[in-house]
Amino acid sequence: MNLDNKVCIVTGAASGIGFGIAKRYHAAGARVAIADRNAEAAQQAAAALDAIAPGRALAVAMDVTSEAEVNAGVEQVVSLWGRVDVLVSNAGVQIVNPLDTFAYADWKTMLAIHLDGAFLTTRACLPHMYKQGGGAIILMGSVHSKEASKLKAPYVTAKHGLMGLAKVIAKEGAPHGVRANVVCPGFVLTPLVEKQIPEQAKELGISEEEVVKRIMLGQTVDGEFTTIEDVAEVALFFAGFETNALTGQSLVVSHGWFME
Ligand code: NAD
Repeated sequence: MNLDNKVCIVTGAASGIGFGIAKRYHAAGARVAIADRNAEAAQQAAAALDAIAPGRALAVAMDVTSEAEVNAGVEQVVSLWGRVDVLVSNAGVQIVNPLDTFAYADWKTMLAIHLDGAFLTTRACLPHMYKQGGGAIILMGSVHSKEASKLKAPYVTAKHGLMGLAKVIAKEGAPHGVRANVVCPGFVLTPLVEKQIPEQAKELGISEEEVVKRIMLGQTVDGEFTTIEDVAEVALFFAGFETNALTGQSLVVSHGWFME
């Protein structure tokens, strides 16, 4: 897959999976905007890509829950590079708690980042993609787009919701050559997951080792974490696949944790 000269925006790209995707796209020849609410980390991530090949990475300070920041960030990219070919809506956080005590504010924060963020970034990119006559939108789902786990009500709700959003983008975007697909990873060892291990151990009253072995990897075929590189490869495939034959789909990359 070749992304030569394509302009890609990856949200939440200052860390973890988002940075892995930005790095993979950059290696495939793309110009990559690292959009993140952590502006300093976004600068560092862009500098790391610039050190590999200069002039094809841009840091964009953007909180995906802010309509104004999303619109301004996409405009910043388009005014520099003239277009936007690929959007990866990846920014995300995790808050774990049982439903009966889940704080409403935390519920709203989760839905805002995962769902409002995907909507706002999609809406800001679509007019440019329609004008150009094509583009790819990739939403970061999860095995939790297909399955539920205890303690993750808003996360599971939002990740399921992204499947619906991708299908609507696919239908509305098709006449304009815009495709939308969802990547659904199993557990990947990033800061988001590292933070959950002690939290889940406490909530479930088990050891951290058990959380990893039993809760996170117990249903995989080989007890292994999915890697950032695995997820980036799937995101590259969706970005580079250029016809409407592959749209409105999801692909689970989870060491067999979930099988369709
Ligand atoms: P991470 O914590 O390593 O990175 C998340 C990035 O998103 C950070 O740089 C953070 O600053 C940014 N971010 C958070 N809120 C933001 C906001 N409002 N606006 C802009 N940026 C924001 O996490 P990760 O594990 O790489 O997760 C990335 C995505 O992958 C998330 O959507 C997550 O749900 C999804 N995912 C992760 C796993 C996993 O096991 N790690 C599995 C399936 C899906």
